[in-house]
Amino acid sequence: MQTQQRIAIVGSGLVGTLLGIYLRKAGHVVHVYDRSPDVRKIAFSGRSINLAMSHRGWKALDGAGIGDRIREVAIPMDKRAIHLVDKELAYQPYGIDGESIYSISRGGLNRLMLTLAEEVGVEFFFEKKIWDVTLADATLHIGETEKGAWEELKYDKVFGADGAFSRVRHRMQRQNRFDYSQDFLDTGYKELNIPANPDGTHKLDKNSFHIWPRGAFMLIALPNMDGSFTCTLFMPFEGENSFEALHDREAVEGFFQQYFPDTLQVIPELVNDFFKNPTSSLVTMRCYPWTYGDKVALIGDAAHAIVPFYGQGMNAGFEDITCLAGLMEQFGDDWETIFKEYQVIRKPNADAIAELSYRNFMEMSTKTADEKFLLQKKIEKWFALKHPEKWLPLYDRVTFSYRPYSEALAIGNHQNAIMEEIMKIPSIETQWETEEVEKKILELLQQS
Ligand SMILES: Cc1cc2nc3c(=O)[nH]c(=O)nc-3n(C[C@H](O)[C@H](O)[C@H](O)COP(=O)(O)OP(=O)(O)OC[C@H]3O[C@@H](n4cnc5c(N)ncnc54)[C@H](O)[C@@H]3O)c2cc1C
Repeated sequence: MQTQQRIAIVGSGLVGTLLGIYLRKAGHVVHVYDRSPDVRKIAFSGRSINLAMSHRGWKALDGAGIGDRIREVAIPMDKRAIHLVDKELAYQPYGIDGESIYSISRGGLNRLMLTLAEEVGVEFFFEKKIWDVTLADATLHIGETEKGAWEELKYDKVFGADGAFSRVRHRMQRQNRFDYSQDFLDTGYKELNIPANPDGTHKLDKNSFHIWPRGAFMLIALPNMDGSFTCTLFMPFEGENSFEALHDREAVEGFFQQYFPDTLQVIPELVNDFFKNPTSSLVTMRCYPWTYGDKVALIGDAAHAIVPFYGQGMNAGFEDITCLAGLMEQFGDDWETIFKEYQVIRKPNADAIAELSYRNFMEMSTKTADEKFLLQKKIEKWFALKHPEKWLPLYDRVTFSYRPYSEALAIGNHQNAIMEEIMKIPSIETQWETEEVEKKILELLQQS
């Protein structure tokens, strides 16, 4: 057991709330501040942003004893459903052992987690904006406006779980030797909706992650519990096929008719939603260090914001908490060591998943429709089933394992180099389930 601390968490998003549960269960007094109103008290906007939860996320939720409550509102997706123009729907199973990722509403998950956190004694203070933090003594500065009078609240520790544009990090950025970078993608996103059938059933297969891969842009759809799907259109801001180019009703309808004809039947409010819903941007943010002495630590998107193409942002933030909880057990009251180890362990993993997520846009938007790439994946899967101790495909290692992301990136690069050699074998398209191919992969593995 640790000596009780008074701990403030800035941000009642997914990461701040789960961290609150862990810290409260470890015996601390936990106060969570958020600039926004309590999401449970505001009317549902009708827009449901979906997330894919995978192994790392579940591990953290189970560690807090709330995994089963969350499973009740999650829909398993065991495959990708690839929608190509003028071709039949193609299904690509996810894990080599038939594993699933889970579709879950971000708002619904946040609301449920806030209640579960309150049940264990975490205290929330909404509509309290943190403008600044005094790092040396973990003091929060809270106020209505940036220039108005600020209330000062001193704690033993402060966690910045206040997202990609963190105010806590903003203060840390003014420290000597604090590294920081922020890169916006030229691709943005917009949400659309596929409503349920009149009888409440789903219009598409509900246990699939639906993708319409079209190269520089793509559409995805994830199922909701109420029978609807939330779609996300990822597309460049400017250029030929871009948000800028889709400026009126005719342009939007023509674009969907040309590239996503099978969606016209199922997205009845296409044009209205397209112009009503915002076009949002995507950012990768890296920084270091993440901690200040034994007083302040960044966690979740505040420490590492990544683009969403591997479905790992929240999962990575939850894994930060698993790591921190392990270190709290190991080092007890030595918070300086806990914070130091935490950032040393997590930073390379955050950088690795940032890189993998960036690369995965190409895989989702282009390669899922590429015959050669699909064959490569088939060969990898075939080999992995024969030699599970020698080969775990990259997607499985990221999504269905607890191995470090940095290891996944390094091994993934190596596997890719091997597969490039294999794909050069003449007539590999027709003769890949052979002893010769198996031997060649084993040989290339041995050489490394
Ligand atoms: C389109 C899209 C799809 C995604 N899909 C997935 C997915 O499939 N799987 C996955 O794992 N991840 C996904 N993510 C990433 C995931 O949404 C984030 O990683 C996760 O929500 C981060 O949680 P957080 O608690 O760290 O930050 P946030 O959710 O940003 O929460 C921060 C909280 O801090 C509060 N706050 C901010 N500033 C202040 C302040 N100054 N004072 C007080 N409070 C403040 C905010 O109001 C907010 O409540 C996706 C992201 C996007 C954009």
